Amino acid sequence: MDDRPKILIIDDEEVVLDSCAQIVEGSHYQAVTASDGTLGLKLVQELQPDLIFVDLKMPGVSGFEVLEKVNEIDPTIVTVVITGYATVSSAVEAMKKGAYDFLPKPFTPDEFRLITRRGLEKRRLELETIALRREKEMLREHFAAIVSHELRAPLNAVQQNLFVFDQELSGKLTEDQKARLERIKSRIDDLLKLVRSWLRVVSVDMGKLKEGFAPVSVIASISKAIESVEPYAVRKDIEIVISINDRLRPIEGDSVTLTEALVNIIGNAVKYSYEGSKVLVRAEEKADHILITVSDTGAGIPREDLPHLFEGFYRGKSGQAVEEGHGLGLALSRRIIEAHNGTISVESELGAGSTFVVSLPALRAQPTPQGG
Ligand code: ADP
Repeated sequence: MDDRPKILIIDDEEVVLDSCAQIVEGSHYQAVTASDGTLGLKLVQELQPDLIFVDLKMPGVSGFEVLEKVNEIDPTIVTVVITGYATVSSAVEAMKKGAYDFLPKPFTPDEFRLITRRGLEKRRLELETIALRREKEMLREHFAAIVSHELRAPLNAVQQNLFVFDQELSGKLTEDQKARLERIKSRIDDLLKLVRSWLRVVSVDMGKLKEGFAPVSVIASISKAIESVEPYAVRKDIEIVISINDRLRPIEGDSVTLTEALVNIIGNAVKYSYEGSKVLVRAEEKADHILITVSDTGAGIPREDLPHLFEGFYRGKSGQAVEEGHGLGLALSRRIIEAHNGTISVESELGAGSTFVVSLPALRAQPTPQGG
């Protein structure tokens, strides 16, 4: 396979195409030419070139249209516009549209070579940046997964031994020693919880989950989630107010993970609310979607925290103020909701409260839903 960088030249003037092809011949690049925009775009799809030279003024599909389409197909492809002296202003316009550079006609072979070298260097850097970003992302996920996995077994062993130790020493420890042992146990419990949560975030196999999708009653999932959060709410004297249209259509999904996501969101609303306040859970249908809204009048979230809440291991100001939690609940919830072709968003005002909205596509037909 020829893995030399590919250059595509799109121009309606034969003489330009020929001279460019001649300059490139025998070089480290391979060149393909197209005499109009339509053919050019077809070649972009087929060949995925690294660099495209495109004439701005062509009959039929214009250079501007080519630029726009290339940007849609693959924005990392570097584009250079070829233009006559009289149209430098449109070249500037093209650069505003994402073209990397422009080459005024007539140009010398050296000018063409220089711009080609620079364009390909830009493409190389761009691809390298994308690869590095991807690698960083993979490392972040895998590193945490590997560490969590490796930590789980020894932590389980420590927990088990502590349990035996506690039994054997029962009645022989001073109050102070007992308190210290309790602290050790609780720290180990916390660590194990963290390890399990992280493994859960990275191990929910979304592909597999989708294979088992069936009609799910959103009302049943919300009820189950509230049931599980209720004891916590009672302890904080928080009332969970429910407002649900009971004729909601079902959605296509997995009731267990969907309930898990809702437990996280409703649980957070309770966790970050003040004692004696209310949390509102609403479900309604809008534009073929089921919207589940969870609002609280609690601590709220500073604007700078908002973009990071769903990233994993991120605890906002409100999170840091309470002890419990590892900043993983919303990351897992988002993965689950996105696997359901849904979205999750948040609006919040510091000191006034937060509103999380989950939107899930409603099922068109009305088969009998899963028990929830
Ligand atoms: P955790 O609650 O364990 O820290 P999450 O992933 O569930 O982790 O949430 C991430 C962060 O988002 C929290 O640390 C907190 O700062 C913020 N947050 C989430 N829900 C709310 C809420 N209802 N009110 C205020 N802050 C919230």
